[in-house]
Amino acid sequence: MTNRQLFLQHVAQTSQSPIGLEIVNAAGCRMWDKDGKEYFDLISGFSVMNIGHSNPTVIEAITQQVSQYMHLMVYGEIIESPQVAYAKTLTEYLPASLDCVYFTNSGSEATEGAMKLAKRFTNRSQIIAFKNSYHGSTQGALSIMGDENWRNAYRPLLPDILHLHYNNFDSLDAITERTACIVMETVQAEAGVICPDPAWIRALREKCTTTGTLLVLDEIQTGFGRTGSLWAFEQYGIVPDILLIGKALGGGLPLGAFISSNAIMQTLTFKPVLGHISTFAGHPVSCAAGLAAFEVLVKSFFLEEITESNPGENETSALTINQKSELILKRLQHPAIKAVRSSGLLMAVEFKDEILCQKISHACVQNGLVTDWFLFAPNCLRVAPPLVISREEIEAVCRLLIATIEQVINGR
Ligand code: PMP
Repeated sequence: MTNRQLFLQHVAQTSQSPIGLEIVNAAGCRMWDKDGKEYFDLISGFSVMNIGHSNPTVIEAITQQVSQYMHLMVYGEIIESPQVAYAKTLTEYLPASLDCVYFTNSGSEATEGAMKLAKRFTNRSQIIAFKNSYHGSTQGALSIMGDENWRNAYRPLLPDILHLHYNNFDSLDAITERTACIVMETVQAEAGVICPDPAWIRALREKCTTTGTLLVLDEIQTGFGRTGSLWAFEQYGIVPDILLIGKALGGGLPLGAFISSNAIMQTLTFKPVLGHISTFAGHPVSCAAGLAAFEVLVKSFFLEEITESNPGENETSALTINQKSELILKRLQHPAIKAVRSSGLLMAVEFKDEILCQKISHACVQNGLVTDWFLFAPNCLRVAPPLVISREEIEAVCRLLIATIEQVINGR
């Protein structure tokens, strides 16, 4: 049996059409399959590999931690220095009110923890989320997912959930003294990159404050520089009560977190004691890798200089994340492209329908560009490369993408 056949038979499948490449190596923005064919990673493992694949600083940190210890005890009992160091560093780059980190294993678990925390802190039950939002696949996170098609297949789900229209001022009237929390993506990713109207998101923050509702911002996909700032909420002049992060948080290893004030977080420690616990949460190797990756990221960010693959090699061509985004927008011109929506290097390239998008996505992979579509915008192609992508790589990728679109349109 080939590895592909074994994969299809013995590894549980999530769809009937997996990308199915057999990658054996990855570095920077590139990946190689078992036959040595090179692929360009246009999705960063779904916004995980923000500083690129195989960063040597991250590998070194993992090796070092593995040689010291791996698992010692369930989360929260023993002082594990990688957790402490990462929590301290993260909170230094967050508003003062977000000073306490609860590490989890995944983004979904961060969502789950935050929902429990909000209910517990406010003593309320209603949770509000938005249409076309994605916060994870576990049952609590699924209950607030903004699409009936996915929710309905798994009912019964959590009660007392309300879904509102994103960017709609009238919706805000539904937030009341009954609402424990609003869970929302600062920029809606799976909806096909929908940015909030700044006035709307500020009004929403205000409504949460006046009703005593906790604002939970999901930055699992938009955090860690993806949208051009370290956290997307910085661009809108608001601060959440609880922040959800994941994906790039672990530098390539599994890690999630919900972050709040110490005062709010304390409510999880009593009545009942151990009300939210997890064996592997905040794994020390993930924390060591995440901290190393975070330090690499913020160094390039705050120097605002070399955010490219080859620091030092060609310093004059250094571009910021937003400049890279603008360059891609400029290059992605084709009559078949209806629109490109973007927030930094999270970009949705819109085609007339899902069928055309699927054909282009498939041809891209054949041509060495690994891309995908969006869960609630299947007519949009995902362009979210590692943030370290260089100007030259952008030019090459955009040329190949346009050529692939031409190839599909002309039926070649
Ligand atoms: N929230 C958002 C915005 C996400 O994009 C994702 C993952 N795609 C999640 C939550 C869930 O994270 P995980 O897959 O790590 O459980």
